[in-house]
Amino acid sequence: MTLGSEVDGRMSGALPIHEFIAPGATLGVMGGGQLARMFAHAAQQMGYAVAVLDPDPTSPAGLVAHHHIRSGYQDAAGLAELTQCSAAITTEFENVPASALATLAASRPVAPGAAGVAVCQDRAAEKAHFVRCGVPCAPHALIESAAQLARIDASLLPGILKTTRLGYDGKGQVRVSGRDELAAAWADLGSVSCVLEKMLPLAFEISVIVARGADGAVVHLPAQQNLHRDGVLAVTRVPAPNLGAELQATAVAAAGRIATTLGYVGVLCVEFFVLQDGSLVANEMAPRPHNSGHYSIDACDVSQFDLQVRAMTGAPLVAPRLHSPCVMLNLLGDLWFPAGRKVEPDWAEVLALPGVHLHLYGKAEARAGRKMGHLTVTAADAMQADAVARQAAARLGLEAW
Ligand code: ADP
Ligand code: MG
Repeated sequence: MTLGSEVDGRMSGALPIHEFIAPGATLGVMGGGQLARMFAHAAQQMGYAVAVLDPDPTSPAGLVAHHHIRSGYQDAAGLAELTQCSAAITTEFENVPASALATLAASRPVAPGAAGVAVCQDRAAEKAHFVRCGVPCAPHALIESAAQLARIDASLLPGILKTTRLGYDGKGQVRVSGRDELAAAWADLGSVSCVLEKMLPLAFEISVIVARGADGAVVHLPAQQNLHRDGVLAVTRVPAPNLGAELQATAVAAAGRIATTLGYVGVLCVEFFVLQDGSLVANEMAPRPHNSGHYSIDACDVSQFDLQVRAMTGAPLVAPRLHSPCVMLNLLGDLWFPAGRKVEPDWAEVLALPGVHLHLYGKAEARAGRKMGHLTVTAADAMQADAVARQAAARLGLEAW
């Protein structure tokens, strides 16, 4: 295998991964949230040291990393320190400043590279990329001026107005039924650059995680079916109960094409809608491991975090295998406030159930909507996983699905 030889110019100058970075080296991460924490666990298991750059002294990954650089994401001294101690660098969030990634890439391999991350930072660029790859996305229009707002085609309404940049977990988006609501919503969002998407009749939602190596090899995790509540992921089930084999293959191929056409190296998650007529539409993508892929830690023989370690170190990518059907439940801070008063959830009660894997991210303060952890229920078959997950949800006071 000739690692790194095919990394092309679209990696925006990032140094290619010339040779395998062996365990013992230090891997750097921009951001110290739960994704970086689980990345650190995977990297450390394989014998790497981990350096995290995050200004928060109590960041979940900073607490478990070998080195925690407490600086801002654009701080020159902090970036220099991260470069100095890391053999390769990755990011746990897509809104890392492009200039920071470019600075790091001048002296270390950075995966994913700034060019791929830039596309994921911008909903309009993301959709243009889907179209370029021959992957359908929702009918949409860009709104950056009052003139563009006035010209919106009526066929896009009712729709969802989304800020082009910085939206996540349903934030930065408003559902609008007509022109008046659209105008008010655009003003409410600060008249910033937005995309108006036609409201589509969803049957269900899935996502696919792929990893691409510097040699161009692409592997994928099995597609997961996702249920969102208030714009935030609540439940992930694998295998996806409503997804046929043919549509799954189409989604996996589309995600692979999206990564390959970007010249991407690392883990990439693509979210799709399955519409009521059975068609598949790409929604958005994330240039990193994804909340919907957390199940892979306990249910697959190679997790999304293992894949990120392998991709950035130039290790071979092998196809992950789902060894146990599973259900993942997100644990939001709301769980800590069952009747308005703070109470620690009764973990012993859920841990009494078979196949429960509890993950808490070490965040000291529970707040409504804050991602505090997740739990994955694995079982010998999907029905059993679903039944135990429902018991776990009931014991925690989570809504069933
Ligand atoms: P975020 O970055 O907040 O995850 P998404 O674009 O994924 O933003 O939207 C959040 C959720 O809103 C989706 O998971 C889906 O449930 C719903 N949604 C988004 N766009 C559409 C659409 N065009 N039609 C119907 N539902 C949508
Ligand atoms: Mg989303």
